[in-house]
Amino acid sequence: MFDFDVLIAGGGLVGASLAAALAPLPLKVGVVEAVAFGAPGQPSYDERVTALSPSSQRIFARIGVWPALAAEAAPIREVHVSERGCFAKTRLNAQELGVEALGYVVPNRTIGAALSGCLSRQANLQMLAPASVTTVTLRPECVVATVAGGAERQVTSRLLVAADGAQSEIRKQLGIAARVWDYGQSALVCNLSVGRPQAGGAYERFTDQGTLALLPMGAERYAFIWTADRAQIEKLLVLPEAEFLQAAEALFNGRVGGLSRLGKRQSYPLKLVRAAAQTRGRVLVLGNAAHSLSPIAAQGFNLSLRDVAVLADVLGDAVERNADIGAASLLAAYVKSRRRDQTGTAVFTDMLTRTFSNPLRSVALARNAGLIGLELLPFLRRQFLLRSAGLAGMRTRSVREVGPE
Ligand SMILES: Cc1cc2nc3c(=O)[nH]c(=O)nc-3n(C[C@H](O)[C@H](O)[C@H](O)COP(=O)(O)OP(=O)(O)OC[C@H]3O[C@@H](n4cnc5c(N)ncnc54)[C@H](O)[C@@H]3O)c2cc1C
Repeated sequence: MFDFDVLIAGGGLVGASLAAALAPLPLKVGVVEAVAFGAPGQPSYDERVTALSPSSQRIFARIGVWPALAAEAAPIREVHVSERGCFAKTRLNAQELGVEALGYVVPNRTIGAALSGCLSRQANLQMLAPASVTTVTLRPECVVATVAGGAERQVTSRLLVAADGAQSEIRKQLGIAARVWDYGQSALVCNLSVGRPQAGGAYERFTDQGTLALLPMGAERYAFIWTADRAQIEKLLVLPEAEFLQAAEALFNGRVGGLSRLGKRQSYPLKLVRAAAQTRGRVLVLGNAAHSLSPIAAQGFNLSLRDVAVLADVLGDAVERNADIGAASLLAAYVKSRRRDQTGTAVFTDMLTRTFSNPLRSVALARNAGLIGLELLPFLRRQFLLRSAGLAGMRTRSVREVGPE
């Protein structure tokens, strides 16, 4: 009767993951994506890497995407956390949690290619790309979406999922407000090589010139993230390569050896964006459109993938019961079940961003006390590790089913 059961606006990391997770269900699924998969300008699958948490690894394994990622996923087995000029430091490792790795570093392009491969094998899926959802009309029995790209047309769906990013036009059109906290900082992201690589070792270093992180990508290659005041990042973006590498190397104080082979530098503003509501009629907002977190704690996509897993379960249950998959009560139940994890993760990320990006002496002292606490207090340490690994307080079937908490 309707063109689609589920229409997903936005085929970025989150929208495409949802489409993959819905594959086993007898639903007609449509994905509308503004930029074709594999196109150089695709904003979700750009030069970045994503640190996937163990919970994300399990979800990707469950929905059949992991085999295409595994070969390029570099495990993080240990994180060295230190503060420049202070004795406090700690090492967090995977064994403490009883997991194979604390996370897996995967290039976003690899995730894009894996998802695209998975979607291309899906018989019940129609991919509309490049095309955009331009207007959305709510009706009691369906959503009518205008899809522009080639010939403009109107399509109907029982449920529309808006996974169209932090600046979501659909969210705006539906009058859903978004609260934005601007940290006044940016993250500079690039790849480089280190002189003394340590297999599976990641580094987080706090300095008076910002926070530095190195994530292993295999062999001597690392993803490097430098977070600092926006004005400072602007300068670092255009600093001659040799000077940039020298400045970063000095802040690591010889810990990782010489830095070389600098890749393309890109920057992203640090903001927390949270939608005031996640549903309107038969529309659900998902991914960055619902909550966009500062990348400092590598939690944004991991949180959204847990949302995706739960949503797929909720829709699967509704299909089994022959219930309406776009019903307001169903969507409200999904939102309620995700509140605790979403709020906990947003608060955790906000706390880390504010604490670890503040150059004030008093905050540096608190940070040191925190690092010492992490080193000495097993409970605090375990909670921190569980939250970072995306396993804290998980009460969802999808994540529980595929591994222990
Ligand atoms: C520097 C950086 C590092 C990060 N590192 C990590 C990490 O290590 N771990 C982690 O968990 N998270 C990380 N994140 C967060 C992660 O990147 C985001 O959570 C993720 O990109 C959100 O994906 P999305 O699909 O919701 O949104 P987006 O990536 O913004 O994708 C939205 C998609 O919708 C499409 N679109 C927009 N409007 C329309 C329309 N009207 N019609 C059709 N299509 C449309 C766009 O073309 C795009 O493809 C990082 C973020 C940044 C900035």
